[in-house]
Amino acid sequence: MRSFVYDQPAIRVIFGIGVIDQLPEEVQRLGARRALVLASPGRRPIAEEAARRLGTAAAGVYAEAAMHVPIDVARAVCETAKRLEADCCVTIGGGSTIGLGKAIALENKASGANGASALPIVAVPTTYSGSEMTPIHGVTEGGVKRTGRDRKVLPKAVLYDPALTVSLPRHISGPSGMNAIAHCVEALYAPDANPIISLFAAEGIRALARSLPVVVEEPANLEARADALYGAWLSGAALGATSMGLHHKLCHTLGGSFNLPHADVHTSVLPHATAFNRAAAPDAMRVVAGALGADEAAQGLYDLAVRIGAPVALKAIGMPADGLDRAARLATDNPYDNPRPIDYAGVRQLLDDAYRGTRPVS
Ligand code: NAD
Repeated sequence: MRSFVYDQPAIRVIFGIGVIDQLPEEVQRLGARRALVLASPGRRPIAEEAARRLGTAAAGVYAEAAMHVPIDVARAVCETAKRLEADCCVTIGGGSTIGLGKAIALENKASGANGASALPIVAVPTTYSGSEMTPIHGVTEGGVKRTGRDRKVLPKAVLYDPALTVSLPRHISGPSGMNAIAHCVEALYAPDANPIISLFAAEGIRALARSLPVVVEEPANLEARADALYGAWLSGAALGATSMGLHHKLCHTLGGSFNLPHADVHTSVLPHATAFNRAAAPDAMRVVAGALGADEAAQGLYDLAVRIGAPVALKAIGMPADGLDRAARLATDNPYDNPRPIDYAGVRQLLDDAYRGTRPVS
């Protein structure tokens, strides 16, 4: 038997079709009177609608969230929060928007009671990134994303409303769901895995594997959307509770150094990172394969990505062939935990397979 620590922070979760109606109540529960509503430019209409619902409890709307939280945007939003005397943030959107809320929460942490952030977050996720469940924050400066963990950036409440996700197009839904599955796969073999989080991870993969094919075929199917969002919740909790290995490290490197789209990178790399770890984490592989309903984990992940029309080749999403050596070097420079020890030749081969998008061999 393996010893473990289970130390999961409590986050209030409100889940259901139409729960966005409860946003004013949730903001009020925090005692907040001036909520700043954050979104990316494409989500501005929903953010404005949310501000309208909040009425006098809304301080304003800031709809400039961008992928990987550029430092300029982080500074500007902190300035806006200060100027508007905001006492709470409502994030409506995917990981980019939640990341912006976390930047504000971090900036304001010192002034809050007991070291808590003075600007608590109410998150309304509209993708499957899972960021709303993690203490992981980050900003990008000069092409380098610096990340850290701090529980003070965790939202106080999360409203999961599947109705807000029906507008998520097929080409974002699929990769975003595969990004969530990647959190679950790495949580299962993490050095700090524990039995409860492993249940979350297996159930997260099951929910996403059965719902994503329906979601991409019938984007307005609310049952499937709810199932996918449920899977994303569990995957975010799994990501937040464990340390990630080679797969996340590689995706971080590729996304940051070659400016590739975050979720698409996860989709392309996941089958090959899983194959890399196959022999070193047999128990996790059995759980992944079982949850996918596949004979083998890496091939099951590849087949799911193909089935939902998500990218499977790095070359198709803008990775330059002459960057593979550098990516392998960056990912093997510093030691970190991974079931199979990291070696340059193995990672270089993995990247080659992900670049070409071949189906992993048994
Ligand atoms: P995103 O937030 O950048 O959203 C992708 C696009 O989808 C945006 O253009 C957005 O406007 C649009 N969109 C969002 N919801 C929509 C909806 N319902 N309908 C139509 N369009 C919609 O993408 P993401 O994949 O959610 O997040 C990626 C970012 O999150 C990356 O920066 C990544 O590093 C970060 N992330 C952080 C964590 C964490 O724990 N801190 C976890 C996962 C991802």
